[in-house]
Amino acid sequence: MHLPTPNPVFRWTAEPWGHGLVCTPLQSSAQHLFTTRQLQLRPATSAGSHSSAWTQATASLKAGPDQLMRISQVHGHTVRVVRRGERSLGDQQARPEADAIVANEPDLVLAVQVADCVPMLIADRRTGVAGAVHAGWRGTCAGIAPAAVATLAREFGTEPGSLIVAMGPSIGACCYDVGAELLDAFRTAGATDDQLDRWFVRAPTGSLRLDLWTVNSDQLVAAGVAADHIHVSGLCTQTHVDVFESYRAEGAAAGRMAALIRVPHGS
Ligand SMILES: [Zn+2]
Repeated sequence: MHLPTPNPVFRWTAEPWGHGLVCTPLQSSAQHLFTTRQLQLRPATSAGSHSSAWTQATASLKAGPDQLMRISQVHGHTVRVVRRGERSLGDQQARPEADAIVANEPDLVLAVQVADCVPMLIADRRTGVAGAVHAGWRGTCAGIAPAAVATLAREFGTEPGSLIVAMGPSIGACCYDVGAELLDAFRTAGATDDQLDRWFVRAPTGSLRLDLWTVNSDQLVAAGVAADHIHVSGLCTQTHVDVFESYRAEGAAAGRMAALIRVPHGS
């Protein structure tokens, strides 16, 4: 397997199950990992937190399956909050419907799963918080990333300017052909003409393409995150389907990739 070269602030790791990707600036705030298809995380095996692939991924953060918190992703803008001391086994098994999860319980591992959608991991070491976000076009249009930032500020007093954000492998503007109805959806959600010009690009073939990395970066900056604290891996899942899982490339046969982050101890 040929590993593509990510943005220089990202680096490959060697895990017992295969290669993972970490963002160096985020790693100094919180342990985290973006997995590859080598983990063999299948939708069918992803029902329980204790499934073998999830246990292996969690172990890469030196954590056990009981520390893992996942959500049931529905392409919306609901942020699940786990406050220190509130976690219960019941919460963990329920997997509430949400597309972002934020917490200040140290050593909890927060996770989302993707196969083209943008996985975002967020942390602030000072307030000891972390978050994991799943942003496809619907969640992005609904503002899931700024909702996560606003929730961190409201619940835990985190300054958006202190957050570090990493966006992992997901479908890039090189491949993400979309219909004009998406442009209408973003316009209806309040996007300006200038924003639509930045976010939707015309491919050489004439088709319309959506740049989810730029949309999410712009939304995070508008929410108060420093532009130089936002790191995009730059790796497209469909282009590198030998390394990643891509729903666009493989349809129902596509597996999933996990993005996990361990909540740091506050300083
Ligand atoms: Zn691509």
